[in-house]
Amino acid sequence: MKPGSEPVPVALPAGFAARLIEWQRRAGRHDLPWQGIRDPYRVWLSEIMLQQTQVSTVLAYYPRFLARFPDVRSLAGAQPDEVMALWSGLGYYSRARNLHRCAQVVVVEHGGCFPDSAESLQRLPGVGASTAAAIAAFCFGERVSILDGNVRRVLGRLLAFEEDLARAGPQQRLWGLAQALLPEQADAKDMVAYTQGLMDLGATLCTRSRPRCSECPVQDLCLAHARDAVQKFPIRTRHLRRQSVSWWLLLWRRPAPGGWQLHLQRRPASGIWSGLFCPPVYGTEAELLEVVPGQWRERVSMLPVISHSLTHREMRLHPVLLDLPTESHGDVLLPDGGWVDCGDLTGVGLPAPVRQLLDRL
Ligand code: SF4
Repeated sequence: MKPGSEPVPVALPAGFAARLIEWQRRAGRHDLPWQGIRDPYRVWLSEIMLQQTQVSTVLAYYPRFLARFPDVRSLAGAQPDEVMALWSGLGYYSRARNLHRCAQVVVVEHGGCFPDSAESLQRLPGVGASTAAAIAAFCFGERVSILDGNVRRVLGRLLAFEEDLARAGPQQRLWGLAQALLPEQADAKDMVAYTQGLMDLGATLCTRSRPRCSECPVQDLCLAHARDAVQKFPIRTRHLRRQSVSWWLLLWRRPAPGGWQLHLQRRPASGIWSGLFCPPVYGTEAELLEVVPGQWRERVSMLPVISHSLTHREMRLHPVLLDLPTESHGDVLLPDGGWVDCGDLTGVGLPAPVRQLLDRL
């Protein structure tokens, strides 16, 4: 064991689970569209959408996705581009690709039924241990604990967990403690309320900044609060450092009957915005201008720069508009791309900042 990674003894507060269940039933969230159902397909979809995405955003996407793909078989049989188009704007597009693959695995290898335990659920593509636990607890009443980022924060504070949660060993130990905190002899309804209670506490009261401890149902059990050290927990030593990246986007437009057409290319299969459609991207302004024929240079106009944050990147997007003359009809000027009617972009998988940019245009 490395120095500094020795487990620190932790005392478990008595009565935590009962308190959380009572609070969730009385004051927790009950009206989200994925609550109160035991259909693993719908719970799984909501859990994947909610990873890294706020509830308010998911509320718009979830019903739309379900209207088009009401069950796992319809999703498994979909074209990848259609799945990406419906996901467009939610970000973290590997989730959409895994979602599609996972649906196909469920259909082909499990006869269209999701496995019914956390252990087997986490063998599915894109389903991590905490997501598997959430599906198993909500749909099958399994006595298993979730441990996503919000729950790590809640339990890190509740237990004043002194170890560094940037490391795998402490994370595993916290998971063991999360299991030990589960309600004893819980029935399926208790597991639903308990699991939802952990999520609700992290989302509404025990928030990253300015937690509302005075309203917290477990305040008197919380060690971080007792030590007046709430902001110290959870302990994470590794901080995310985002690299900055600048892209020049060439928006070729040409007149078409009833409006404009735009030239789009599919992004490569890996990297930023992989598999989505995007105007051609260049690393510098000079590279971009090189592909514009001399007679059209004066038509180029630079649009305001857009800043966009990804998990590991801080992006500066420089959109450059080039409206082509009518006589350019029929030319396909760039490789691996095609012309799309600007009024027809709803069904195209576009990155969120590109869609916002095109909407403004
Ligand atoms: Fe979080 Fe405060 Fe409740 Fe402790 S008392 S669990 S820090 S909200």
